[in-house]
Amino acid sequence: MQRRNFIGLLGLSGASVYGFNVLKKSEYWPDDNTFFNPCLNSQLPPILANHNVVRSAFADIDTTQIWDGHIHLIGIGDSASGIWVNPNSFNPFYLKKYVQFRFFLNASCPSPNMAIDEGFVNRLASLTWGTGVRFLLLAFDHSYNEKGERLLKQTPFYTPNDYAASIHRQYPHQFEWLASIHPYRKDCIEVLEKAVANQARGVKWLPPAMGIDPSSPLCDRFYKALVYWDIPLLCHGGDEQAIDGSHHQKLGNPLLLRRALDQGVKVVVAHCASLGQNRDLDKGTATLVSNFDLFTRLLDESAYKGQIFGDISAMTQIKRVKYLKKLLAHPDWHSQLLYASDYPLPAVIPITSLKLLHEQQLITAEQVNILSQLRQHNALLFDFVLARHIQVEGQHFPTSIFHTRPFWTGVKQLV
Ligand SMILES: [Zn+2]
Repeated sequence: MQRRNFIGLLGLSGASVYGFNVLKKSEYWPDDNTFFNPCLNSQLPPILANHNVVRSAFADIDTTQIWDGHIHLIGIGDSASGIWVNPNSFNPFYLKKYVQFRFFLNASCPSPNMAIDEGFVNRLASLTWGTGVRFLLLAFDHSYNEKGERLLKQTPFYTPNDYAASIHRQYPHQFEWLASIHPYRKDCIEVLEKAVANQARGVKWLPPAMGIDPSSPLCDRFYKALVYWDIPLLCHGGDEQAIDGSHHQKLGNPLLLRRALDQGVKVVVAHCASLGQNRDLDKGTATLVSNFDLFTRLLDESAYKGQIFGDISAMTQIKRVKYLKKLLAHPDWHSQLLYASDYPLPAVIPITSLKLLHEQQLITAEQVNILSQLRQHNALLFDFVLARHIQVEGQHFPTSIFHTRPFWTGVKQLV
């Protein structure tokens, strides 16, 4: 797709006006009636940079220890990146996919006068908000069936491992990367070894969109290899709404990850599985339990200590606030939580409401004011400052959650 067509996508078509009317009746109508990120200069005006709300977020923080472990690497494939996007995402007929895609690309503010793929990375590089802060870029593999055959139609998009690794080589002090490898691939072990050789810090799966059942014996040889390389698995948990695949939400059941945990894999459950419900497979009943409660059950099991973690990315989104409050109020879980942003979602204006967070007494009116300005310049700094300030009855996330570098640097070196 050409830049001209992409710009057209950002205009208001009949289909998206219809989408907005649906939105208007929902909780997603934005606080200040502004849907799109204005993509202001990432350099903050001094009055904002020096404001106490921003400065105080850095108290007791060593920015060299912050590795944001959840940054989507996206684009439209208009460069040599090898990125592929399912054509349905460009087709207004498929309204949900079309509107989602438009919001994601707008939120990532691709720099002008270059390919969208390159503009995405260029803007992202400009968002580095502290000395030594690094971003872990996520590749995204195709869907596969159980015979190991690639399923292009069921693949929402594809971001090659080689592309993520090349961005790391280009900006070694800003970008790290996580490989995405479907475990049903016949060559999954070789692909993992190549990723380790190219300094991948972990592997990312999105089971509902990629068609992975983490409890399938088909995953066992991949789990063995992950343990051998001591490389963590960042696995989406709970319902998936941001990326549409054609697979079932039951694949987001956190209890399916017992198979990986029992084999010694280190697992990070993205967003602490904070959307949707699934069957309580431990009890074998049809009763539905929230994915978050199923996840925290695993968190509480002493046998999995040091093996199971949750990332707090996206937890400030409207639909997840209820569980965000539970996380804050449970200091016993905090040693198993990792800070991450889920970029570009913090820049997708309608899905995080500062007004709601204020109404729920998680942030102050002054913080709302500064954060809403900050978001227009730098969505990643916005996400960090917000995560530092949110609190329930005086209980904040501790500093240790933000110092994630030691977690991500445990990969064995090839000899
Ligand atoms: Zn994500």
